[in-house]
Formats: sequence, C-alpha cells, structure tokens
Amino acid sequence: MKCGENMKIEVSVLASGSSGNALYISGGKTKILIDAGLSGREIDRRLKKIGVAGDDLNAILVTHEHLDHIKGVGVLSRKYDLPIYANESTWLGAEDRLGKVAEKNCRIFKGEFMIGDLGISPFAIPHDANEPVGFIISCGNKRIGQATDMGFVSPEVETSLKGLDLLVIEANHDLEMLMSGTYPWPLKNRIHGRKGHLSNDDTADLLPRIISDNFPRILLAHLSQDNNIPALAYITVKNSLEDHGFTIGKDLLLDIAYRDRPTELFEVG
Ligand SMILES: [Zn+2]
Ligand SMILES: [Zn+2]
Repeated sequence: MKCGENMKIEVSVLASGSSGNALYISGGKTKILIDAGLSGREIDRRLKKIGVAGDDLNAILVTHEHLDHIKGVGVLSRKYDLPIYANESTWLGAEDRLGKVAEKNCRIFKGEFMIGDLGISPFAIPHDANEPVGFIISCGNKRIGQATDMGFVSPEVETSLKGLDLLVIEANHDLEMLMSGTYPWPLKNRIHGRKGHLSNDDTADLLPRIISDNFPRILLAHLSQDNNIPALAYITVKNSLEDHGFTIGKDLLLDIAYRDRPTELFEVG
C-alpha cells in the first residue's frame, strides 16, 4: 500500500527535552520512531498511552548520538528486531552505548531513502555532535519535519523546513533565563553557541518565514527545564507570529511537547 493522498498520518511527540526525546510517526502501513532517548521500558509505556504497541514499529531513525536521543535505541532494536537508521558518523559516536545490535539492523543512510510508505530526507543541523541531522518525513503529499538540537538556523535548515504540514521545532531556552541562571559559563556558552540549542526568540523569528497557507501544526520542543517555561515559549512565538499577520487557530496550530508525557496523537491533513 502506498501512502496516497488520503492516507492517514499520525504523529505524537512521546518525550522532549534533555531528559529524553522520541517522536512517533505513522503513515500508510509504516510506523517509525525518530530517536528513542528514554529507557526502552518508558518508551513502551508511552507508546501504549497513545495506543501503539512496540511490536508494530518498523524502524528507529537517529538524529545524533547524544544520550537524550539514543538511550533506548539498542534495547528497542533487540526487543522488537527493529532496524536502526543513522548516518555513518552518528553510528561511530553511538555504537558503544547501543549495546549489541544485529548486523541486519545496522542501517547506514547517506541521502534520502524510503522506509515502507514513508519518504525520509535527512538534512544537516548545526550542533555539537558528529554529524547531526533533522528529518523531513513525507507520506503522499504531506510532509512532517523534526528539527531540534540546533545552534542556529542555517540556510539549509530554513529551506528544509518551508511549508511543512507538521513541524517539531526546538524552543530550548529563554536567553535571559539562561544567562541569569545558575549554569556554569562554559555550559551557558555551549547552549547559546552556534552548535548548541535554539532559543525561544530564534524560533519565534524563524516561524513566520517558513509557514505557508496549508494550516500547519507547530510543536515547540526540547524545552529546557531550567531555562524556559512552556507559557513563555508559547507567548514568545505567538507574539512573533501575530506581528507577522498569522493567527493561531486560523492560520496554524501551536502546541508544546513535554518531557514527562506524550502529546496526543495528532492526525495530519
Ligand atoms: Zn537533545
Ligand atoms: Zn544534542
């Protein structure tokens, strides 16, 4: 079965933030995770909450080798015999922490590829990992984007994220909270730096430039527990969108992804 125009696509952010990240996407007959940065057991528990069994998954994609993105990847691959897709440098960085993975489940991607009914397009992101990527997942004429862990919005990132139907985008920190907070300077500089994380303002600036008239759903993600407040991220982005003539509920939908619970299962399209 191909992912046709009327095929159902569903998305849930299972977890988001430095304590663990996982994004569930299903389209046509294919079900995948992007990252699995909680324990295997916790991912199972959250999948169950949205009505999905681990057994139903077809693959796990990995954005980069930081532990908050790979903690449960090896366990889930062994438990459900799942192929893991990562680029070569990410494999090198992650290997030691995945445990034993069956050779047939070690998949190295270079450019675009397909998993069942889903088209997968990785794009480079600026972050302090070996070769970090975001993903555009396409199914029929719908496109979903995952873009977190980015120090800044590069031209490649901006081009990749234009006109999507659903976008999971980082709003990591409020710059003032970060700078006046208790983190040591090297950590502040890392987060704020060109290979760190996007601030609320960065994302608020970007969104008006990439939203089209297809009524997209935007999910703010990877919020810092110490240097952000969900309501602050939301209002910062909302104000910027309104300044540019967009109205939430009329032109787009805006939601937040949380660290401690999955979002609802959003239907795309
Ligand atoms: Zn992360
Ligand atoms: Zn990271």
